[in-house]
Amino acid sequence: MDISGTTRVIAIFGHPVSHSLSPAMHNSAFREMGLDYCYIALDVLPSELRAAIEGVRAMDIAGLNITVPHKEAVMPMLDKVDPEASFIGAVNTIVNRSGKLIGYNTDGRGFMRSLEEESVDVAGKRVLLVGAGGAARAISWYLAESGSDLSIYNRTTERAELLVGDLAINFKNVRTAEGLEELGEADIVINSTSLGLKPEDALPFEPSALKQDAIVVDLIYRDTPLILEARKSGHKAINGLGMLLWQGVLASELWTGHAPPHEHMKNIIFKSLG
Ligand code: NAP
Repeated sequence: MDISGTTRVIAIFGHPVSHSLSPAMHNSAFREMGLDYCYIALDVLPSELRAAIEGVRAMDIAGLNITVPHKEAVMPMLDKVDPEASFIGAVNTIVNRSGKLIGYNTDGRGFMRSLEEESVDVAGKRVLLVGAGGAARAISWYLAESGSDLSIYNRTTERAELLVGDLAINFKNVRTAEGLEELGEADIVINSTSLGLKPEDALPFEPSALKQDAIVVDLIYRDTPLILEARKSGHKAINGLGMLLWQGVLASELWTGHAPPHEHMKNIIFKSLG
């Protein structure tokens, strides 16, 4: 990549951030597209976030990805937050439009694109969403909007109730799950908990309790024990790699106005994950 005096900079702010796959994915896509952009990872302490955001304005950085732990904290520092990101309560992408910083969240749309790619249509299906954290909030709007019959289960019931209450303002097809007993009735079950990130984690639910033709989706972007168990018992099982890819594709479109080469980006992610 030739970095010159005209190169536009995109950065990811996180803490920690050195593990991020995004620099490899986006730099490679910029190169493929012949765009004069580069993407860097910047470790920003929570106490320095405001100063870092002011730096974006001062240095005319073209755009950002925002990751843990800044996705919520950054919102009041922006000039505008789009309605989807406002509902989600978190921003993962920022575009600098002539000095005005606009916040977006591409996780939910990215998730739906990843399902589309796998020919999974949620319309009219019974979907059980396990977990009610930030990622669940990001995808639940789109699951409801797409006409699924959505129920949400979470270890901490109040958090599921809060999310369902927020969704219920716009959608009638959403409710709190009675419990994991609903597993046996669901057509699609989605793990949005962080269970599966660590090797010692328990399964978020037992795939043996599912209907034979139920589909399992895990937002974690590797084949987790849940995914492997589900496949073993004959279920279609999809990990979160597609969501990771498509949230990046959509972010890149927002920054540059061009559709990036998604197959190429997918290969870069595969390579980076070894
Ligand atoms: P979060 O806001 O911290 O929420 C964590 C969720 O996991 C909550 O529902 C929490 O339940 C549940 N949980 C945690 N430990 C648990 C346990 N021991 N037993 C049962 N439930 C437990 O995190 P998040 O941002 O939503 O992220 C969730 C997952 O999605 C992570 O694994 C992340 O890697 C993945 N993700 C993937 C992508 C992608 O692009 N593929 C994007 C975003 C997130 P409580 O409310 O009861 O604590």
